[in-house]
Formats: sequence, C-alpha cells, structure tokens
Amino acid sequence: MSEKVVETDVLVIGSGLAGCFAAVRTRELNADVTLVDKNFVGKTGSSHFAGGIMIFNEDWGDDLDAWLEQYSRIGEHVADRRWDEIILRESYPRYRDLVSWGEPFYKKDDTVGFPEPGEEPKRRIPRKTKYRFTTLITGFGAKRDKMLIARKKVIDSGCRVLDRVMITDLLKQRGRVVGAVGFHTRTGDFYLIKAKAVVIASGGLGYRAVRYGTEFNTGDGMAMAYRAGAEMMSMDFANIMWVAKHCDTAVIDGPVGDLGLDRDKVTNAKGEEFLGKEFPHYPTNILWPIEFHSGRGPIYHEPYGIDREKFKDVIKRYEERGEGPWITMLDRAGIDIFKDRFEQYMANDPSIAFGGLRINTKCESSIPGLYAAGDASGNNWTGPTYAALGNGMANAAVTGYRAGQSAAEFALKSNKLEVDEAEIAKCKDAVYAPLRRESGFTTDHVLTRVQQTILPYEVRMVMHEKRLQAAITMIEFYRDHFVPKMRAVDPHDLRNAHEVRNMVLGAEMRLRAALFRTESRGSFYREDYPRRDDENWLKWVVLKEDAGKMKLWTEPVPKEYWGDTSMPYGKRYPLQYPE
Ligand SMILES: Cc1cc2nc3c(=O)[nH]c(=O)nc-3n(C[C@H](O)[C@H](O)[C@H](O)COP(=O)(O)OP(=O)(O)OC[C@H]3O[C@@H](n4cnc5c(N)ncnc54)[C@H](O)[C@@H]3O)c2cc1C
Repeated sequence: MSEKVVETDVLVIGSGLAGCFAAVRTRELNADVTLVDKNFVGKTGSSHFAGGIMIFNEDWGDDLDAWLEQYSRIGEHVADRRWDEIILRESYPRYRDLVSWGEPFYKKDDTVGFPEPGEEPKRRIPRKTKYRFTTLITGFGAKRDKMLIARKKVIDSGCRVLDRVMITDLLKQRGRVVGAVGFHTRTGDFYLIKAKAVVIASGGLGYRAVRYGTEFNTGDGMAMAYRAGAEMMSMDFANIMWVAKHCDTAVIDGPVGDLGLDRDKVTNAKGEEFLGKEFPHYPTNILWPIEFHSGRGPIYHEPYGIDREKFKDVIKRYEERGEGPWITMLDRAGIDIFKDRFEQYMANDPSIAFGGLRINTKCESSIPGLYAAGDASGNNWTGPTYAALGNGMANAAVTGYRAGQSAAEFALKSNKLEVDEAEIAKCKDAVYAPLRRESGFTTDHVLTRVQQTILPYEVRMVMHEKRLQAAITMIEFYRDHFVPKMRAVDPHDLRNAHEVRNMVLGAEMRLRAALFRTESRGSFYREDYPRRDDENWLKWVVLKEDAGKMKLWTEPVPKEYWGDTSMPYGKRYPLQYPE
C-alpha cells in the first residue's frame, strides 16, 4: 500500500450538498480545494436520496415572521433563530446557484427546466395545520442525477476530487487544524492531506439503521472533531423515524397533497387515530413511539382508499424525480398504498441535522482552521423536532456555502504550518491498527452490539434515566474492550472498523447528552421527566473531550427566543405527552 500526500488550501470532507457547496464556494474565492468522500462523489450522501429543497422568498409572498414563529413553536423555543433566519433568507440565492449549476427544477406549469431569475418554481405545501402551516418545498435534479450534476459543477470549478478516500482523523499543529489522514477504501493506500483549513461536511450520525439513504452517515466527522477537541452542540436531540415494516422504508409525507387529501391516517392496533388534528402524520413525530410504548401498538398507516389508476401520473412523477423510492419499495413488497394498511416500526435516523460540531454563523467551529456544514454541524436550526420539510437540503446548501467562504478566507490569509512527523506516524499507525490484528472482534460483532444498544425505541425515543445509564454502561464497555481489539480483514472492512469506532463514540455523546437534559421537549421525550421545564431548560447542551472524559455543560438560549413564558402550559405547548 502506497502513501499519497496532497497539499491544498481547503480540505472538504464529505460530498453531499453541503460539501459540494463548500468546495464550489472555495474555488470561487480562488483558493485551492480538495473534496474527499469515502464513496463516489455524486452518488452518495443523504443528499443523493433527498427529493426536495425548501425555498423561501418574500417576493413570492412568504412571510418571514410567520415562518420564524413556526420554527420557534415546533422547536419549542430552543431552535436557534439566528440560523433559521439565515437559512430562510439565503435559500433563494442558493436555489439560483443550483439552477446555474444546471439543476433542473419543476416549473409552475409542471414542465422541468430552468426558471428565470425571480421566477417561482413549482412549490408545494405538503401539510397545513395550526401547528405546522408552511413548508414550501420543491423537487429538483434530473431524475436521480442531482448530485452527479453537482459533481460536474465541482470538477468544472477546478476542485480536486478524491473518490473512495475515508478520512479517519484530523491533524493539529499549535492548536490549529492543519489537515487530515485517511485511506483508500479499495486499495488501502494511505492519504496524508495537508490543508490550511478543513470543512467537515460528512453528514449526520446514525448506526446503519434500516432506513435507506443514511448508511454512510456514521458520525465520522463529529467523532474526529471530538477527538481533536472540538465542542459539540445539541447531541441530546436526535431524529426519530418510522419505517414501513415489510420493506424498511420511511414513508415521509406520503403523496396526500397531490392526491387531494389533507392528511395521512395513522392508527393503533384498535384502529384508533391517535395523532389528533393538529399533528400531521410526519414519521418524526414522538407521539408514534409513545403510542407504541403504551401497549396500543402496532402502529399502522391506513390505505388512501383512492382509485390508484386515477393517480398514475402523480406516482410516475414521484418516481421520475427520485422522490418516491419508497413507493417502489412498497410495491415490491406487495403493498398497495391505495388499498392496503401497512405496519410501521421505528428506526433511529441520522439523516437530518440534530446535533454536531458547534459552529457560529460563519460556520467556524471551536478550533481554528476547522469548519462544519450540513448535517455534521450542530447549528441547531430545528431544536428537538424536525421543523420543516426541505430544510435538510436548504441547511446543507446555506451552511456549505458559508463554510466554504469562511474556510477560503482563512486559508488565503494563513501561513502553512508544517505537520509534525511523529504525529503523522502516530495517525498512520492508528489507521491500520485493525488490519494488523490477527485475532479479535469482527466489525460486524461490534456493530451489532452498538445497534442492539442504541436503536431500540425505549433507549433514545422514549427515554428514562435507568435505560440511558444502562446503555451508557454497555457503550463504555464496547469503547474500552471491543474497539481496541477490533480487527479488519481488508481495506473495505477497515472502513467498517473506523465507522464502528466512530459510532461507538457518537452513541456515547448522544446518550450522555440525553441523560443530561432532565426534561421533555418536542421529540425529546423523557418518561421520567415528562414536562417541559422552562425555568431550568431553555438551554442548549454542549460537550467536549476534557482530560480523557466527556465534559457536558449548558448554555442559556437567548431570551428573545423564549416566546411568551407566561402562557398556560397547554397553550404554549400544543404537543402534549401522556400524563
Ligand atoms: C431518504 C432521505 C430523504 C430525504 N429527503 C429530504 C428532502 O426531500 N428534503 C430535504 O431537505 N432533506 C431531505 N433529507 C435530509 C437531507 O438529505 C440531509 O439533511 C442533507 O442531504 C444533508 O446533506 P449533507 O451534505 O450535510 O450530508 P450528506 O448528503 O449525507 O453527505 C455526507 C457525505 O459525507 C461522506 N462521508 C462521511 N464520512 C466520511 C469520511 N470519514 N470520509 C469521507 N467522506 C465521508 C458520506 O459518504 C456522504 O457522501 C432526506 C434524507 C434521507 C436519508
């Protein structure tokens, strides 16, 4: 296995929408950039699977205050309004960037093309309730090629692209991040990348749960940043996701709008609807696992009861724009959404920004030279509950652009710091350690244990101190006993080993942060603390490594985000947990 050395101004780790925006913006500012992905750039990342992006534009009649109010309400006053406003205001210019990259959008007349500046593309409001009244999203990309179009833009801009290189750790010199190390996941070659600035755009933290489109989101960027001493934000919050039992697919916001219905129908074993009118079916809804926990499961998605033939064009469009792979998957499983009821079960899902590297509004992390964007960043735009469809991609585009800008500006004015040879040798040794072991625990063994510990609904969805503590005890054991003895058989398996090591660390961060927040809020539900505690918990949870231990603390949410704290509890918090 050979050794490759790359020198660059800015290294971008991860090539989803956030990474592509970061790379392109860096080049626009004339800095040299290297974009690295452990998969093939253009066919990876949650971004490859996402269907729509939220576009907000006051010129089209969108009301900024009303939208911000929605984020605060759904985010239950701990969503970061600075970021909400930035994402809303900058979603339009980023959409224009996408058009200029060659990304086709649905136009108002349903044709696919390139809207003129100022022209409103086809946007849809998937659900309108008192609780969630506006999420305007639009599909984009030619069939499933949207990230390949982004790849072309990245390459045409003059970015260096490294496919199938997994970054394992960051390099630091005099308190500054100065590059990273990794390996090629096929050849096993060692990569030393010297950079003046690094952007982490490596997506969310999951545990290879069943849901498609998240299997590469193993929290690598968060883990390497934590090991480098970066602060992490809001790791207590995490997405929850229900998936259709027979084909492991999430049915996000079914095509009800297009079918002329105003909501999906979700029932318990007795056939009772339990969500109430205010709460749409969104499978990120905490009321689903709570209903299941009460013993009234299983949970079913009821059939639409509509003649399928009449809607074949709608379904075709879903499939064409790659938005409805779930429809295809249900079809293959023999489930007809128009006449069959189908069972749902829960999957812990990392696809959307819940926690990650703490960043300021310039996307600077707490370590000089290190930036973060997209789902890897903990900018906390959404608080404990996913607030608005289409925002995962809008957040990726907006933060990616900002991170690229800041990293380029930093790199262009910074001197090069030589990387300490001893440090490189240490990192290289750590990269290949699992390959050198002739015996030990397989990566599958450790992954299975991690999944069994963190995925059950009763651990990170319906939470309790005792269960969180029990899970932490097991994760500590994996960290101290399994991970140092994990062995890999080839470069592909070496990737598994590093991913599993990162998942163990990520699980520890999530569990400790969840244990720390002793209240319930939005989708963050503690059975032992079933009420919001505004007096003590209008706060954010921050954590970092400190002398080999995970140190956690809180920081107050700015008072102007608090809303009206004198409101009666039931009115302030329309989402009610069982007494
Ligand atoms: C099925 C599905 C549907 C969705 N639908 C929508 C939607 O319609 N609208 C919406 O707004 N949001 C949607 N989301 C959420 C949205 O996709 C994400 O919020 C968004 O794509 C995040 O972009 P990102 O660039 O931060 O991360 P990603 O797109 O996940 O990219 C991260 C990249 O980093 C790479 N990487 C990770 N670790 C390393 C490493 N160690 N070394 C090198 N590379 C690494 C990964 O391979 C991956 O390519 C959906 C998510 C899923 C899973």
